[in-house]
Amino acid sequence: MLRTTLLAAARSSTCRTLVERAPITRHLVSKYVAGSTLADALPPVARVTADRLVTLDHLGEDVADASQAEATVDAYTRLLAELGRSGLAERAEVSVKLSAVGQFLPHDGEKIALDNARRVCAAAAEAGTTVTLDMEDHTTVDSTLAVLAELRADFPWVGAVLQAYLHRTEADCRDFAGAGSRVRLCKGAYDEPASVAYRDKAEVDRSYVRCLRTLMAGEGYPMVATHDPRLVGIARTLADGCGRGPAGYEHQMLYGIRENEQRSIAAQGRRMRVYVPYGDQWYGYFMRRLAERPANVAFFARSLVSD
Ligand code: FAD
Repeated sequence: MLRTTLLAAARSSTCRTLVERAPITRHLVSKYVAGSTLADALPPVARVTADRLVTLDHLGEDVADASQAEATVDAYTRLLAELGRSGLAERAEVSVKLSAVGQFLPHDGEKIALDNARRVCAAAAEAGTTVTLDMEDHTTVDSTLAVLAELRADFPWVGAVLQAYLHRTEADCRDFAGAGSRVRLCKGAYDEPASVAYRDKAEVDRSYVRCLRTLMAGEGYPMVATHDPRLVGIARTLADGCGRGPAGYEHQMLYGIRENEQRSIAAQGRRMRVYVPYGDQWYGYFMRRLAERPANVAFFARSLVSD
């Protein structure tokens, strides 16, 4: 119930104004977001890349016009040039939301997003790194996978995200378990109806394990995006059982969450990648993180009413 309310608030402009103005917000946001600008984000990225890998997200989603989509492409182009120039591209890639590059624009949105994503991929190739397409709500999955297929024709290293809470994802994992594919498996962060998604945590976890089995047994490169200690352990067992060495898959976690565990995984010689968001469009991302953690919500709600 609370999760549903917060995820609805993530799309409300009234709630957005209230949350953005709350004094406590800056403090909580800085736990999950590396800074408002690229210059702010670079020191944390350099710190994290000392022992872990990174995927950088320039925050923003659901752009309303072509000029905003163009601004997103510019931001990624500048980011990728900086990664190439500084040498960070060896340990840092980027994550892109297609809705931030025009997927929902009324005329030819998917084509605009494809063209824009292609420009981001070309900048990544130039810098010597890779791109992963984030996955948004279930209405975008077919479109995102169609764009992915087009991009992979020119840039075979482009990664996909699949969400274990969707009923369709086991079948998608079978389709994406082939040689050359890079798949980030996560539980899923949106409020989805029971007609398309498992809503019970135990069912989502069971689906996650089934999907993981398929990806680990396949020939692609699984990216295990979860902070759930049980699933992290199962991923290792499955990887070992499938004869994957430490270079045959990677763990992924979000900036600001379970950092000690991130360091410990890296110290064991396993690949650990941290998703590092930055930028001033943090509202939707922040609300999804609140929705995942009831303890944060109680703290945040108390500060809103006592203000
Ligand atoms: P949970 O059962 O939610 O959490 C397990 C434990 O992790 C919790 O008990 C807690 O200790 C800790 N934890 C989890 N969340 C938080 C939090 N917000 N604050 C503090 N502690 C927390 N979702 C998408 O829909 N599309 C994407 O493209 C996408 N990309 C992702 C990329 C990465 C690298 C990661 C790690 C996640 C991504 N997600 C994405 C989010 C994902 O779908 C989940 O919503 C999120 O990871 C929480 O699920 P969990 O697997 O960590 O398990």
